[in-house]
Amino acid sequence: MNLLQGKKALIFGLANKNSIAWGIAQAFHQQGATLGFSYGIPQLERRVRPLAESLEVDFVEKCDVTSDEEIDLVFDKAAGHLGSIDILVHAVAFAKQDDLSGRFVNTSRDGFSMALDISAFSLVALSKRASGLMTDGGNILTMTYYGAEKAIPHYNVMGVAKAALEASVRYLAMDLGPDGIRVNAISAGPIKTLAAAGIAGFRKMLHYTSERTPLRRNVDQVEVGKTALWLCSDLASGVTGEVVYVDAGYHILGMPEPPEHWE
Ligand code: NAD
Repeated sequence: MNLLQGKKALIFGLANKNSIAWGIAQAFHQQGATLGFSYGIPQLERRVRPLAESLEVDFVEKCDVTSDEEIDLVFDKAAGHLGSIDILVHAVAFAKQDDLSGRFVNTSRDGFSMALDISAFSLVALSKRASGLMTDGGNILTMTYYGAEKAIPHYNVMGVAKAALEASVRYLAMDLGPDGIRVNAISAGPIKTLAAAGIAGFRKMLHYTSERTPLRRNVDQVEVGKTALWLCSDLASGVTGEVVYVDAGYHILGMPEPPEHWE
């Protein structure tokens, strides 16, 4: 099958081979998509270029999503290089390390704004530019986490940012739907990546969920990539404004396991 034959996808948030964006890029590439990559900071270029070369991707541009100028520039370049696009993947998030440990009540004004700007508003900013290049409908996909809905230790301000992100998915879906553009989010279970390493106690979180999910394991980047492929292909043509869980079923649990004295 070539589910994305002839489709062009711009992927934001590739940092290294552990990135969820890399799982998505590989799935899209295997199904015939032409890809373009954007990374956040100059230091990542030496990691991203070889990955791009391995998939014969020649559009690789830096873009700090806190800068409207950089966003405009990357989309101008994309228009010149790719012409129209069909898919935007937003796999970008950041919060200060201090705000991903300890007490949520201590979140600073600055840290709150930064997390919301980079992790939520950036979806709106990128969608505005991307939708202008989606001349024949399209797909926008972002990445979220269960901490948007339920309080998770140490996820703190990022949970608030993900809640804003998920609400933005619904408003963008309503706004862009008449143009044939679908907007969805994948809520992934914990996966070991650069961003995840910033969350205090992340290794313990991985261990905790691996023992309790209905599938009794965690998920990986490949599984997120496969669901991203489904959502951004014609197979999901009737789906928009959704949060789709790729979390080995963790979010369906009301009680992770029966207390021992029930046995
Ligand atoms: P990652 O570190 O590989 O990706 C995060 C990306 O965000 C990096 O490429 C980083 O450069 C980019 N970024 C940060 N600030 C930026 C800025 N100002 N401008 C442009 N780019 C910037 O980690 P990941 O886990 O693959 O994260 C991708 C997405 O998946 C994030 O939205 C994350 O919250 C989400 N997610 C991750 C997990 C997990 O457990 N790893 C679970 C659910 C959701």
